[in-house]
Amino acid sequence: MEAIITFKDVSKTYESGTHALHHVSLHVEKGEFVFIVGPSGAGKSTLIKMLLREETPTKGTVLVNGYNLCTMKRRHIPAFRRTIGVVFQDFRLIPTMTVYENVAFALQVTNVSSKYIRRRVPYILDLLGLAKKARSYPPEISGGEQQRVALARALVNNPALIIADEPTGNIDPELSYEIVELLNEINRCGTTIVMVTHEHGLVSHFDHRVIGIEKGRVILDKGGKPQ
Ligand code: ADP
Repeated sequence: MEAIITFKDVSKTYESGTHALHHVSLHVEKGEFVFIVGPSGAGKSTLIKMLLREETPTKGTVLVNGYNLCTMKRRHIPAFRRTIGVVFQDFRLIPTMTVYENVAFALQVTNVSSKYIRRRVPYILDLLGLAKKARSYPPEISGGEQQRVALARALVNNPALIIADEPTGNIDPELSYEIVELLNEINRCGTTIVMVTHEHGLVSHFDHRVIGIEKGRVILDKGGKPQ
Protein backbone atom coordinates (compact mmCIF):
# COMPACT_ATOMS: atom_id res chain seq x y z
CA MET A 1 0.00 0.00 0.00
CA GLU A 2 1.04 3.54 -0.67
CA ALA A 3 0.97 6.23 2.03
CA ILE A 4 -0.85 9.44 1.20
CA ILE A 5 -0.08 11.04 4.59
CA THR A 6 3.06 10.44 6.65
CA PHE A 7 3.94 12.19 9.91
CA LYS A 8 7.46 11.29 11.07
CA ASP A 9 8.09 12.23 14.68
CA VAL A 10 6.31 15.57 14.37
CA SER A 11 6.35 18.06 17.22
CA LYS A 12 4.86 21.53 17.19
CA THR A 13 5.56 24.27 19.69
CA TYR A 14 3.80 27.58 19.02
CA GLU A 15 5.64 30.85 19.59
CA SER A 16 3.62 31.25 22.78
CA GLY A 17 5.48 28.21 24.10
CA THR A 18 2.45 25.88 23.88
CA HIS A 19 3.45 22.35 22.94
CA ALA A 20 0.55 21.39 20.66
CA LEU A 21 1.97 18.12 19.26
CA HIS A 22 4.57 15.76 20.71
CA HIS A 23 6.39 13.17 18.60
CA VAL A 24 3.42 12.30 16.40
CA SER A 25 4.10 9.55 13.87
CA LEU A 26 1.35 8.17 11.66
CA HIS A 27 0.62 6.87 8.20
CA VAL A 28 -2.59 7.05 6.23
CA GLU A 29 -2.75 4.81 3.17
CA LYS A 30 -4.41 5.77 -0.09
CA GLY A 31 -8.11 4.91 0.04
CA GLU A 32 -8.48 4.90 3.83
CA PHE A 33 -11.24 6.64 5.82
CA VAL A 34 -9.88 7.92 9.14
CA PHE A 35 -11.66 9.63 12.00
CA ILE A 36 -9.53 11.91 14.19
CA VAL A 37 -10.98 12.30 17.67
CA GLY A 38 -9.93 13.97 20.89
CA PRO A 39 -10.99 16.59 23.42
CA SER A 40 -10.79 20.31 22.79
CA GLY A 41 -7.20 21.53 22.91
CA ALA A 42 -5.82 18.05 22.08
CA GLY A 43 -4.03 19.24 18.94
CA LYS A 44 -6.48 18.16 16.21
CA SER A 45 -6.61 21.56 14.48
CA THR A 46 -2.84 21.83 14.65
CA LEU A 47 -2.61 18.45 12.93
CA ILE A 48 -5.04 19.56 10.21
CA LYS A 49 -3.18 22.86 9.71
CA MET A 50 -0.01 20.85 9.29
CA LEU A 51 -1.69 18.69 6.61
CA LEU A 52 -2.73 21.80 4.68
CA ARG A 53 0.66 23.44 5.15
CA GLU A 54 -0.90 26.31 7.10
CA GLU A 55 1.58 25.52 9.86
CA THR A 56 4.94 23.75 9.68
CA PRO A 57 6.33 21.44 12.36
CA THR A 58 8.95 22.59 14.85
CA LYS A 59 10.51 19.13 14.45
CA GLY A 60 9.83 16.16 12.22
CA THR A 61 8.58 15.61 8.67
CA VAL A 62 5.15 15.81 7.06
CA LEU A 63 4.54 14.21 3.66
CA VAL A 64 1.16 14.63 1.95
CA ASN A 65 0.18 13.53 -1.55
CA GLY A 66 3.80 13.12 -2.56
CA TYR A 67 4.83 16.58 -1.33
CA ASN A 68 7.31 17.12 1.50
CA LEU A 69 5.60 19.99 3.31
CA CYS A 70 8.69 20.88 5.32
CA THR A 71 10.94 21.55 2.35
CA MET A 72 8.29 22.75 -0.11
CA LYS A 73 8.82 26.16 -1.69
CA ARG A 74 6.13 28.77 -1.03
CA ARG A 75 5.31 29.07 -4.71
CA HIS A 76 4.32 25.39 -4.81
CA ILE A 77 1.79 25.68 -1.98
CA PRO A 78 -1.24 26.63 -4.15
CA ALA A 79 -0.67 23.67 -6.51
CA PHE A 80 -0.30 21.37 -3.51
CA ARG A 81 -3.52 22.67 -1.90
CA ARG A 82 -5.45 21.99 -5.08
CA THR A 83 -4.72 18.27 -4.63
CA ILE A 84 -6.80 18.36 -1.43
CA GLY A 85 -10.49 19.04 -0.90
CA VAL A 86 -11.27 20.72 2.41
CA VAL A 87 -14.59 20.91 4.24
CA PHE A 88 -14.96 23.11 7.34
CA GLN A 89 -17.44 23.19 10.19
CA ASP A 90 -18.66 26.66 9.16
CA PHE A 91 -19.05 25.74 5.44
CA ARG A 92 -17.19 28.87 4.19
CA LEU A 93 -19.40 29.36 1.16
CA ILE A 94 -19.57 32.73 -0.60
CA PRO A 95 -23.03 34.08 0.29
CA THR A 96 -23.31 36.36 -2.77
CA MET A 97 -22.70 33.51 -5.21
CA THR A 98 -25.24 30.86 -6.13
CA VAL A 99 -24.69 27.21 -5.28
CA TYR A 100 -23.61 26.63 -8.89
CA GLU A 101 -21.19 29.58 -8.79
CA ASN A 102 -19.68 28.51 -5.46
CA VAL A 103 -18.81 25.12 -6.92
CA ALA A 104 -17.74 26.48 -10.33
CA PHE A 105 -15.45 29.00 -8.63
CA ALA A 106 -13.27 26.18 -7.24
CA LEU A 107 -12.67 25.06 -10.84
CA GLN A 108 -12.25 28.52 -12.34
CA VAL A 109 -9.07 29.06 -10.32
CA THR A 110 -7.54 26.01 -12.02
CA ASN A 111 -6.63 25.83 -15.67
CA VAL A 112 -9.64 23.96 -17.01
CA SER A 113 -11.85 24.95 -19.94
CA SER A 114 -15.22 26.60 -19.43
CA LYS A 115 -16.71 23.71 -21.41
CA TYR A 116 -15.40 21.27 -18.80
CA ILE A 117 -16.78 23.47 -15.98
CA ARG A 118 -20.24 23.50 -17.60
CA ARG A 119 -20.20 19.70 -17.68
CA ARG A 120 -18.48 18.99 -14.37
CA VAL A 121 -20.44 21.32 -12.02
CA PRO A 122 -23.93 19.97 -12.84
CA TYR A 123 -22.57 16.42 -12.59
CA ILE A 124 -21.20 17.02 -9.08
CA LEU A 125 -24.33 18.91 -7.95
CA ASP A 126 -26.45 16.03 -9.17
CA LEU A 127 -24.22 13.51 -7.36
CA LEU A 128 -24.83 15.35 -4.09
CA GLY A 129 -28.56 15.78 -4.65
CA LEU A 130 -28.26 19.53 -5.19
CA ALA A 131 -29.41 19.90 -8.79
CA LYS A 132 -32.58 21.72 -7.76
CA LYS A 133 -30.62 24.16 -5.56
CA ALA A 134 -28.15 25.27 -8.24
CA ARG A 135 -29.64 28.76 -8.52
CA SER A 136 -30.15 29.28 -4.77
CA TYR A 137 -27.84 31.34 -2.60
CA PRO A 138 -26.30 29.75 0.54
CA PRO A 139 -28.43 31.77 3.00
CA GLU A 140 -31.57 30.40 1.30
CA ILE A 141 -30.77 26.72 1.92
CA SER A 142 -30.53 24.58 5.07
CA GLY A 143 -27.33 23.90 7.01
CA GLY A 144 -27.24 20.31 5.76
CA GLU A 145 -27.59 21.53 2.18
CA GLN A 146 -24.89 24.15 2.68
CA GLN A 147 -22.55 21.45 3.91
CA ARG A 148 -23.37 19.37 0.83
CA VAL A 149 -22.44 22.39 -1.32
CA ALA A 150 -19.16 22.65 0.58
CA LEU A 151 -18.62 18.96 -0.11
CA ALA A 152 -19.43 19.49 -3.80
CA ARG A 153 -16.89 22.29 -3.92
CA ALA A 154 -14.28 20.09 -2.22
CA LEU A 155 -14.95 17.27 -4.70
CA VAL A 156 -15.19 19.14 -7.96
CA ASN A 157 -11.41 19.13 -8.54
CA ASN A 158 -11.36 15.37 -8.09
CA PRO A 159 -8.86 15.48 -5.19
CA ALA A 160 -7.03 12.38 -3.98
CA LEU A 161 -7.63 13.45 -0.37
CA ILE A 162 -10.53 15.11 1.43
CA ILE A 163 -9.97 16.71 4.82
CA ALA A 164 -13.15 17.38 6.75
CA ASP A 165 -12.69 19.43 9.93
CA GLU A 166 -15.77 18.88 12.15
CA PRO A 167 -18.01 18.90 9.05
CA THR A 168 -21.08 17.94 11.07
CA GLY A 169 -20.51 20.39 13.92
CA ASN A 170 -23.05 22.94 12.69
CA ILE A 171 -25.81 20.69 11.37
CA ASP A 172 -28.65 18.65 12.87
CA PRO A 173 -27.51 15.29 14.27
CA GLU A 174 -29.66 13.24 11.88
CA LEU A 175 -28.10 15.06 8.93
CA SER A 176 -24.63 14.31 10.30
CA TYR A 177 -25.12 10.68 9.28
CA GLU A 178 -26.13 11.78 5.79
CA ILE A 179 -22.91 13.78 5.41
CA VAL A 180 -20.78 10.83 6.56
CA GLU A 181 -22.73 8.52 4.21
CA LEU A 182 -21.82 10.86 1.35
CA LEU A 183 -18.19 10.81 2.47
CA ASN A 184 -18.44 6.99 2.52
CA GLU A 185 -19.60 6.93 -1.07
CA ILE A 186 -16.79 9.25 -2.08
CA ASN A 187 -14.37 6.99 -0.19
CA ARG A 188 -15.72 3.90 -1.97
CA CYS A 189 -14.71 5.55 -5.25
CA GLY A 190 -11.12 5.67 -3.98
CA THR A 191 -10.76 9.11 -2.35
CA THR A 192 -8.94 9.13 0.99
CA ILE A 193 -10.93 10.82 3.77
CA VAL A 194 -9.62 12.31 7.00
CA MET A 195 -12.42 13.59 9.22
CA VAL A 196 -12.09 15.33 12.58
CA THR A 197 -15.13 14.89 14.79
CA HIS A 198 -16.33 15.23 18.38
CA GLU A 199 -19.34 12.99 17.81
CA HIS A 200 -18.78 9.60 19.40
CA GLY A 201 -22.10 8.33 18.03
CA LEU A 202 -20.88 8.86 14.47
CA VAL A 203 -17.53 7.25 15.11
CA SER A 204 -19.04 4.11 16.64
CA HIS A 205 -21.73 3.87 13.95
CA PHE A 206 -19.25 3.65 11.10
CA ASP A 207 -16.58 1.02 10.85
CA HIS A 208 -13.56 3.20 10.12
CA ARG A 209 -10.10 3.64 11.54
CA VAL A 210 -10.02 5.94 14.58
CA ILE A 211 -6.98 7.96 15.62
CA GLY A 212 -7.30 9.48 19.09
CA ILE A 213 -5.26 12.54 20.04
CA GLU A 214 -4.85 13.75 23.60
CA LYS A 215 -2.48 16.40 24.93
CA GLY A 216 -0.67 16.44 21.59
CA ARG A 217 -0.01 12.71 21.44
CA VAL A 218 -1.58 9.82 19.53
CA ILE A 219 -3.18 7.77 22.30
CA LEU A 220 -5.31 5.45 20.15
CA ASP A 221 -5.15 4.05 16.63
CA LYS A 222 -7.61 1.29 15.95
CA GLY A 223 -9.85 -0.27 13.34
CA GLY A 224 -9.86 0.29 9.63
CA LYS A 225 -9.08 -2.18 6.90
CA PRO A 226 -6.23 -4.60 7.54
CA GLN A 227 -3.08 -3.11 6.04
P1 ADP B 1 -7.97 21.05 19.07
O1 ADP B 1 -8.19 21.34 17.62
O2 ADP B 1 -7.86 19.59 19.38
O3 ADP B 1 -8.97 21.74 19.96
P2 ADP B 1 -5.63 22.79 18.81
O4 ADP B 1 -4.71 22.17 17.82
O5 ADP B 1 -6.47 23.93 18.37
O6 ADP B 1 -6.53 21.63 19.49
O7 ADP B 1 -4.78 23.29 20.05
C1 ADP B 1 -3.74 22.54 20.70
C2 ADP B 1 -3.03 23.46 21.69
O8 ADP B 1 -2.30 24.46 20.97
C3 ADP B 1 -3.98 24.20 22.61
O9 ADP B 1 -3.34 24.32 23.87
C4 ADP B 1 -4.13 25.55 21.93
O10 ADP B 1 -4.42 26.56 22.88
C5 ADP B 1 -2.76 25.74 21.31
N1 ADP B 1 -2.80 26.57 20.07
C6 ADP B 1 -3.51 26.31 18.96
N2 ADP B 1 -3.26 27.23 18.00
C7 ADP B 1 -2.34 28.08 18.53
C8 ADP B 1 -1.68 29.26 18.04
N3 ADP B 1 -1.87 29.72 16.80
N4 ADP B 1 -0.82 29.87 18.87
C9 ADP B 1 -0.58 29.41 20.12
N5 ADP B 1 -1.17 28.31 20.64
C10 ADP B 1 -2.05 27.66 19.86
